[in-house]
Amino acid sequence: MTSGKINVSVENIFPLIKKFLYSDHEIFLRELISNATDATTKLKHLSSIGEIKGDLGSLQIDVWTNKDDKTLHIKDRGIGMTAEEVQKYINDVAFSGAEEFLEKYKDSAADSGIIGHFGLGFYSAFMVAHKVEIITKSHQEAPAAHWSCDGSPEFTLEEADKSERGTEIILHIAEDSEEFLEESRIRELLNKYNKFMPIPIKCGTKTETLPLPEDAAEDAKPETQEVDYIVNNPEPAWTKTPASLEKEDYSAFYRELYPMQFEEPLFHIHLNVDYPFNLTGILYFPKLNNELNMQKDRIQLYQNQVFVTDNVEGIVPEFLTLLRGVIDSPDIPLNVSRSYLQADGAVKKISNYITRKVADKLSGLFKEDRKAFEDKWNDIKVVIEYGMLSEDKFFEKAEKFALFPTTDGAYYTFEELEKELKDNQTDKDGKFILLYAADLEAQHSYIQEAKDKGYTVLHLDSPIVAHLIQKLETSKENISFARVDGDAIENLIKKEESTVSKLSDAEKEELKPLIDEAIQDSQYTVQVEAMDSNSSPFVITQPEFMRRMKEMQATGGGGFMGNMPDMYTLLVNSNHELIRTILDTKTAKKRTRLIKQGVDLAKLSQNLLKGEALTDFVKRSYELIK
Ligand code: ADP
Repeated sequence: MTSGKINVSVENIFPLIKKFLYSDHEIFLRELISNATDATTKLKHLSSIGEIKGDLGSLQIDVWTNKDDKTLHIKDRGIGMTAEEVQKYINDVAFSGAEEFLEKYKDSAADSGIIGHFGLGFYSAFMVAHKVEIITKSHQEAPAAHWSCDGSPEFTLEEADKSERGTEIILHIAEDSEEFLEESRIRELLNKYNKFMPIPIKCGTKTETLPLPEDAAEDAKPETQEVDYIVNNPEPAWTKTPASLEKEDYSAFYRELYPMQFEEPLFHIHLNVDYPFNLTGILYFPKLNNELNMQKDRIQLYQNQVFVTDNVEGIVPEFLTLLRGVIDSPDIPLNVSRSYLQADGAVKKISNYITRKVADKLSGLFKEDRKAFEDKWNDIKVVIEYGMLSEDKFFEKAEKFALFPTTDGAYYTFEELEKELKDNQTDKDGKFILLYAADLEAQHSYIQEAKDKGYTVLHLDSPIVAHLIQKLETSKENISFARVDGDAIENLIKKEESTVSKLSDAEKEELKPLIDEAIQDSQYTVQVEAMDSNSSPFVITQPEFMRRMKEMQATGGGGFMGNMPDMYTLLVNSNHELIRTILDTKTAKKRTRLIKQGVDLAKLSQNLLKGEALTDFVKRSYELIK
């Protein structure tokens, strides 16, 4: 037997290990399973190149707990280690690796944005164990070795009588970590980190019910048997070629990833590159409607089938974090902070690649079946619009397939809009005005009016549409979006109408103060206009600019408008009969009542009449009809 002191500059590294990764103790299991998997994969490789002859036998990894002696066992049938290799890899290499890792990160524990904590490897076992043993037998002719260490730099290394090839790691679980003696907890961790590892992992057994034989009696009880409980699916869909998968396989894998998701994804994108970086994966477009909130079923990041994190911020562009699925890439540096990740050249390339693939997929769907694409639009638009806003590269591509639905259910691309509508919807300065409504119910009367005048109204209702509109206006020449209830529409209507005012200028002058006085509300600016006599007598509009700034602020975006009160323009249609009546009414009381009633009706149609004002209105209306 050899005993010795591990050559290490930190007197005792283990308290440090324990303290450092406090919240992440559970990753020890992922590390040990990764080592077991590596050892098994190496063995398979050696066999495939003929360095190891004969049958390899079962290569299953076995994990079990023993509550009596408080141990957790991880056993593989991989290449194993000779005593010299234990000395080299465990005492020297692994230790220096752990030491280096801690040295590097002990000051940056605050940056818990570090993805995973790869690199600590074997020694992370000491986060949960007060003593660790390794019993291992190499595939080469050499006696088995037994290494033991109690968490100080002292270790023992002696011969063991293990005859089967492979390695067994025994963790003597520390008092504060006894949760890891529960099989259910271990299964939970294996399911989280090792669900798609390439080597089958067994953890205990499960009872399986056997099918009844065909000639069984009616009251026959089916037989049961105990079978190995295999935690993982060693061949997840993303590791296969798209050609070998059917639509159902993608759906099945989606459910495997998110067992609690009952809704089918809309479509998927299979990612597969090996140059200039390695990346595989499958992304799914879920139905999103207008949700911008981060959902809890997120994209999962793997490295060689080992789960790393479900926080892919910094690796995929933000707008794609709304998608679901898996990305597997060994080329993403993990021991770094998020801010470093974003600046990393390789990660940038990966992020660009994913963006391009998503854009290409969408473009393909659009070209293949326009109708189907339109049907999905409402569920995918948030991602597309968000992408157009935040990624210029995506904008360039998405411009060709981003759709603008109308209130009548037609869908136009931007190019089609220009072709179809431009001639009919330019203002007096030659600017192309795109009318839109955000809320079909609330803006119903305005939509109706615009349509009656022969205009097309778009229906743009996503939460970030104000930002997107802003972006389109700055990237295109001479276009302007105008909400149907906004002030910009007047320009269009006025040009169209060239209506002659039925009131003289003097009458108009007289009218304005009368109305100001009757409504007594500083939020409303009164403006007398000669509109179509069939239009409403009073119309409330809100300056497009002001409303948009507020909306943008509400969905994130700088500005100072947040605390400003809402400002409205009250348009008085001087050509409407009611306005003539108001002017002709001699008693002030009666006149005020008419104005109030008219303005309240305009407010009501905009959902602006609330509280006391609404109560007064109802009362007044009863007075009028009784
Ligand atoms: P890493 O896995 O990052 O190299 P570790 O500290 O986890 O670092 O392990 C150090 C080395 O010990 C491994 O590279 C490997 O050579 C050896 N080793 C660890 N576990 C096993 C195992 N189960 N079977 C064979 N070799 C192992």
